[in-house]
Amino acid sequence: MAGRLVAVSNRVADPRKLGAGGLAVALGELLNTSGGLWFGWNGKITDDPSGGLHLQRAGKVTLATIGLSRADHDAYYLGYSNGVLWPVFHYRLDLADFDSADVEAYRRVNRLMAQELLPLLRPGDIIWVHDYQMIPMAAELRALGCDHRIGFFLHIPLPPRTILAAIPQHDRLMRSLMSYNLVGFQTQMDADHFADYVEAESGGQRQDRDRVGAYGRTTCVRAFPIGIDVDRLQAMAREPDSQGMAAMMREQYSKRQVLVGVDRLDYSKGLPQRMLAFRRLLERYPENRQSATLIQVAAPSRENVEAYADIRSQLESLCGALNGDFGELDWMPVRYMRRSVARRRLPGLFAASRVALVTPLRDGMNLVAKEFVASQDPDDPGVLVLSRFAGAAEQLTDALLVNPYDTAGTADVIQQALHMPLEERRRRHARLMALVREFDVHWWARAYVATLEAAPFPSGEPTADDSVNNDVERA
Ligand code: UDP
Repeated sequence: MAGRLVAVSNRVADPRKLGAGGLAVALGELLNTSGGLWFGWNGKITDDPSGGLHLQRAGKVTLATIGLSRADHDAYYLGYSNGVLWPVFHYRLDLADFDSADVEAYRRVNRLMAQELLPLLRPGDIIWVHDYQMIPMAAELRALGCDHRIGFFLHIPLPPRTILAAIPQHDRLMRSLMSYNLVGFQTQMDADHFADYVEAESGGQRQDRDRVGAYGRTTCVRAFPIGIDVDRLQAMAREPDSQGMAAMMREQYSKRQVLVGVDRLDYSKGLPQRMLAFRRLLERYPENRQSATLIQVAAPSRENVEAYADIRSQLESLCGALNGDFGELDWMPVRYMRRSVARRRLPGLFAASRVALVTPLRDGMNLVAKEFVASQDPDDPGVLVLSRFAGAAEQLTDALLVNPYDTAGTADVIQQALHMPLEERRRRHARLMALVREFDVHWWARAYVATLEAAPFPSGEPTADDSVNNDVERA
């Protein structure tokens, strides 16, 4: 890397911590080699956020964090990011709370973060902004005179333009993406949605596959499907925590075929639909009774948002009915747990499962799908049943792809997965594993940064346009 990398995201993680996710590890690696900086919210609510910048060293990386006031946190994070952008970007206009959401607070917090970050920047730094909470970051930085290379990566899906157009002031939101030198998405479909939006709603045009122009600017648009840290996961799989989990599962379920689902308890994950499909499997293919057991881990998430409470009660009633209607003294069809399982134990759970059900209604990528593949014994691998609406389906075409809205069709595919011959399991797994390994999270981070470094700089010096636009936007 030529310059220092500066990562910006809503939350900041210490990449050296044991529980750090693949993203933190991959970013940490790049930040470490460039002596970089990671900037974001510290996860705390403070009474007086002014002057609250906190700097901490983590190896060669500087972690720079700020606190947020209760009002800013509730309006920017709970209200606008999670109450509007999350549902709409997951195609759920019905769940978006446009009325109480505060777009001004969203912009204000981004501006505040830009103001805190600016003095920390050095000439030649390369700035990489992450996810839907931070879309206006580059526009705010440019308005303050920042002329660095700035890239953005959206970790969640981008819906078609007709859905985006339902967001009040969608044009301002989408316009701020044009302040980046590079806008990265999880899939080519998401990137195409962005280009379509720019052409249809902004009077811009697609200049070639990777570039769009609008408002007198051009930006590079590309898909970078995020991956997992395969080596780290496989090392974890050899540790006692994971081995113990696999041994316990094999002993407990020696007479059963285990199906596994591991998800945050989020309405995007298709959990009720999954239970309906599993129910249909037991109705239509009764030979699976007494044998197939679905272990569903549902990690609590955003429990103070109403839509999440609704999905929980829906799921719990379906699981209860399944066990009540089909359960026997010595067999229950579903083991449902509303809790998380530690990352270090998950490879063992995946290794002991014959089938994974990864059936979101919509998902940016879905890392569980890739973690399941990487946890399998290549000589006797399990089968991945994957929603065609997960970003991972664009890559993992050797999984059994399903439409989670189609209950009967999904049940048929689960039946196929449970009874797939060894040869076919091996063949599919080998192809999936080759992809998961080649396009791992380190590939993702390096490919993104290399593209950002090479991205042209059409906007050059920040123009009067930025501040004018921002003034208009702020009016
Ligand atoms: N995860 C975990 N324990 C749990 C549930 C999930 O460690 O109980 C991890 C999982 O292994 C994966 C991540 O959380 O690495 C979830 O990422 P994914 O892309 O599947 O979905 P997201 O939650 O980001 O929508």
